[in-house]
Amino acid sequence: MDVLVIGAGVGGLAVARSLLADGHRVRVFEQAPTRRTGGKAVLIWSNGTAVLHDLGVSLDGVGCRIDRIDALTSDGRLRTSMDLAHAAGRFGFETKAIARQDLHRRLSDGLPEDLVRYGMACQSVTEDQGKVTATFADGSTATGDLLIGADGHHSVVRRHLWGDGSVQPATFGTWQGLSPIDIDLARTHHHLMITGREGACGLMPGGDGLLQWWFDVRWSPADPRPAAPLAELRRRFGHWASPVPEVLAAASEEDLGFFGHHWNKVREVVGEGRITLIGDAAHTMPPTLGQGANQTLEDAWVLGRELAKGGDDPAVRLRAYEKTRYPRISLVTRLAKRNPANWRIPPMIGRLLPETAQTSMLARFSNRLTEPATLQRA
Ligand SMILES: Cc1cc2nc3c(=O)[nH]c(=O)nc-3n(C[C@H](O)[C@H](O)[C@H](O)COP(=O)(O)OP(=O)(O)OC[C@H]3O[C@@H](n4cnc5c(N)ncnc54)[C@H](O)[C@@H]3O)c2cc1C
Repeated sequence: MDVLVIGAGVGGLAVARSLLADGHRVRVFEQAPTRRTGGKAVLIWSNGTAVLHDLGVSLDGVGCRIDRIDALTSDGRLRTSMDLAHAAGRFGFETKAIARQDLHRRLSDGLPEDLVRYGMACQSVTEDQGKVTATFADGSTATGDLLIGADGHHSVVRRHLWGDGSVQPATFGTWQGLSPIDIDLARTHHHLMITGREGACGLMPGGDGLLQWWFDVRWSPADPRPAAPLAELRRRFGHWASPVPEVLAAASEEDLGFFGHHWNKVREVVGEGRITLIGDAAHTMPPTLGQGANQTLEDAWVLGRELAKGGDDPAVRLRAYEKTRYPRISLVTRLAKRNPANWRIPPMIGRLLPETAQTSMLARFSNRLTEPATLQRA
């Protein structure tokens, strides 16, 4: 089949890999002028690394393996602790923090040079007599048998299918940075998730001495941007227990980026005819669970397997992919709407419940978020 993919982010590159391996002709159209070179780190959980492994993508030598996540109160008491190394042993795949540009680079490695056409902003899509056509900002068009909208949060393909207004702002936003902050945590494999009245703070090593740090604060699109955001973060979070003050002291304004959280109500039938969506185009969610890219990778994997089944009508396979993904995606999106600042797990849980029990709860929880086949396949 001749497949058009709109967007060369995590989802577009992953699905292109999968379809090329199955012998399809694939063309990817990306609005940016070149491959992404910026961005902070993302957490790729066992479900994501399992899919990457299956797509032939190695994360060896990039990022940092994460072996445990400790959830703490703002005064430094342990709420709960999860042993990801144990979970990795059980699933066969580790969890890694990796800079976004490294993930894009590894997803692109080995793909044909001319696969992604950069500088091609899709403006509209149409379907006629078993063919799908994308029209681009420069007036050119491309026609194929199928079209996959992997064009993210502001998807043009989703707008074609669902109309305007399906993505809503959520109630939190993230200030974040990935920078060389010299604290002990940057040299470990530990991820800290700290929550208190003022919001939430996440800290994890990103590899190469980098620390990924973020602060979630209440936010609405009408809020004015603070004139000095770092000073505002220091005012709000500077009294929290170590290492938060050290991180805020070492951070610089240039490192700081902001992202307001958004979400959309997940649909059981995402696409129409020979058009479907994957990734944020189908399920925009707050980054709370660190599952957006992981679920996007699962989409790409399930869609690839469905299309590999063949058959006369590819639209049937696209609807089967959407049906398979619906229960997980709708659960993950609903959970991701609850910011960690609202998870008030009492510190006594961390003291009373043995770590093995907490880890086993994590593994059971992870299974609910994940297509069973991705983790059972290896
Ligand atoms: C602050 C923050 C932290 C996050 N942390 C994590 C994490 O730890 N773990 C995790 O799993 N997820 C995380 N996520 C979510 C994750 O980044 C997304 O879910 C993931 O990138 C979605 O992949 P995608 O391919 O659907 O979209 P994207 O990666 O956004 O790619 C979409 C691509 O489409 C292109 N495009 C857009 N419109 C057009 C058009 N009209 N024509 C052509 N091209 C177009 C864009 O330029 C882009 O390259 C985080 C998100 C944020 C904001």
